[in-house]
Amino acid sequence: WLSLCVSQKDLLENLRHWLFSKQYVGFATLPNQVHRKSVKKGFDFTLMVAGESGMGKSTLVNSLFLTDLYKDRKLLNAEERINQTVEIIKHTVDIEEKGVKLKLTIVDTPGFGDAVNNNECWKPITDYIDQQFEQYFRDESGLNRKNIQDNRVHCCLYFIPPFGHGLRPVDVEFMKALHEKVNIIPLIAKADCLTPNEIKKLKDRIREEIDKFGIKVYQFPECDSDEDEEFKQLDKELKECTPFAVIGSNTVVEARGQRVRGRLYPWGIVEVENQSHCDFVKLRNMLIRSHMHDLKDVTCDVHYENYRAQCIQEMTSKLAQDNRMESPIPILPLSTPDVDTEKLIKMKDEELKRMQEMLNKMQQQMHDKEQ
Ligand code: GDP
Repeated sequence: WLSLCVSQKDLLENLRHWLFSKQYVGFATLPNQVHRKSVKKGFDFTLMVAGESGMGKSTLVNSLFLTDLYKDRKLLNAEERINQTVEIIKHTVDIEEKGVKLKLTIVDTPGFGDAVNNNECWKPITDYIDQQFEQYFRDESGLNRKNIQDNRVHCCLYFIPPFGHGLRPVDVEFMKALHEKVNIIPLIAKADCLTPNEIKKLKDRIREEIDKFGIKVYQFPECDSDEDEEFKQLDKELKECTPFAVIGSNTVVEARGQRVRGRLYPWGIVEVENQSHCDFVKLRNMLIRSHMHDLKDVTCDVHYENYRAQCIQEMTSKLAQDNRMESPIPILPLSTPDVDTEKLIKMKDEELKRMQEMLNKMQQQMHDKEQ
């Protein structure tokens, strides 16, 4: 699988595709990341978005996937938000592009950081991620292993407000609570509120604090040494760009004679897809085109494996304690067949035996004839 990840040629192809067909989301290039056999089956990807209400999460998701996932959203007033608990809401959408199907699940976390007391407001989110791992673990240990529905969260976009001087305590606590469970990609929300200089300063500060607090955000895989210089340069730029400063918009405006997704202000237009205005294109390219498969791999090989190892360790230590198996995953009792079923099984066994004898006789007869 890894050997089939995006090569330099694929990346250039993606860029070319992007330049000439802006109306596409871009996941049609997913087959470049994985074996073509998977194309028929389609791809699934689960993306979580977290951050305070009003940070532009839904606008960004709509801008990323060119869809309106939030039409039925009900916004709460301040009074309703005072004691609000964090909810987990799933939106699923099937997108098809050039014959490639993507089942996209957006896991939204409304209420995060919105209450007056935000103590442990990340708990419902970590619980949700664990529940998906647990479900997968159960399914994997069950009989129908081939048709497992994988609901594990592959990536979490975490929105940091642009107004502060770096990470807030709630940001540090949130990322530390989640970094062993999910690939966190930190974003600076509403980056059009900042000048390029302010963005640079805020990015440096956030990177420093991520290091200082030992937060493990998603690490881009190392670039192969045999890749060419242009590819290495793109890879370097991507890594230096984090945390991505993003802008979202649900409206199309006219800029330089073209219709573009943007925000119209009295003093000018901010273009979502203009790389000198923000990192939206870099984020979308990495998320959808170049690194979607790696995000899934890391989820499976690192985060899920950690969960699984922990589960097995708990099971074995319990076994050692009690000297009997007490699985954290309840083992369903095997049903004992009743008398009638046993009779039926016996009859079928005898029938099978008779058929086998007949078959042997026929084979013997054919053999004799041939001689
Ligand atoms: P959510 O509650 O986090 O999902 O935030 P929304 O996407 O509903 O956005 C809240 C408000 O912020 C809306 O008025 C949006 O139009 C506005 N908004 C969204 N993205 C941006 C952005 O990138 N820059 C600016 N300045 N405003 C934005």
